[in-house]
Amino acid sequence: MKHSLLIFLFAPSLLFSQIGSDELVNIKELIPDIVIDVRYNTTDNFVSTYSGIPQKLYSTDECFVSRSVAQRLIIVQDSLRKSGLGLKMYDGYRPRAVQYFMYETLPVEYRSFVADPSSGSHHNRGAAVDVSIITLATGKELLMPTKFDYFGPEAAHDYVHPNPIVNQNREYLHAMMMYVGGFTDYVVEWWHYQLPAATSYQLLDFQLK
Ligand SMILES: [Zn+2]
Repeated sequence: MKHSLLIFLFAPSLLFSQIGSDELVNIKELIPDIVIDVRYNTTDNFVSTYSGIPQKLYSTDECFVSRSVAQRLIIVQDSLRKSGLGLKMYDGYRPRAVQYFMYETLPVEYRSFVADPSSGSHHNRGAAVDVSIITLATGKELLMPTKFDYFGPEAAHDYVHPNPIVNQNREYLHAMMMYVGGFTDYVVEWWHYQLPAATSYQLLDFQLK
């Protein structure tokens, strides 16, 4: 009995110690009730907006992440589920060729929102996710300060929205991802989180079919 309790208590840290795995996994297979809303597989994305040409950047609506990311998301989802909530994934692994295309399409003044492809995005490593929170019963997203991929100061963690519920929702997502999932944040995008050791993961460049 004592032994099994020890295993229970130490299981999360054992999971978190498994870093450096480049294997990509389909997150929906590991978390069946996670909501997948990969905008880059639709024409509803910032490249379409800024280029004026509606276009898809991905060839699949499936969402892949490194196994280490998946292990952390499982823990976050388990915790959210207790409140009838769950995660929605806007993006996970992103091919590096898509990163180049995004960067070249985006006007220079917005480039702080898209990582320079010469050094690569943590998304290209399968080590970053773009997420929000939904109500499981309806699939509806909680109110957040901006839409996904809104490139402006309102997307930052320190922005104070006039509706306090909106700030609470963003801060709840932040607390879940940081303190339950053990991810790190990105100050200018409320939806983006990554592994603390993301740079130790290889940059990848293959399209998912
Ligand atoms: Zn991101």
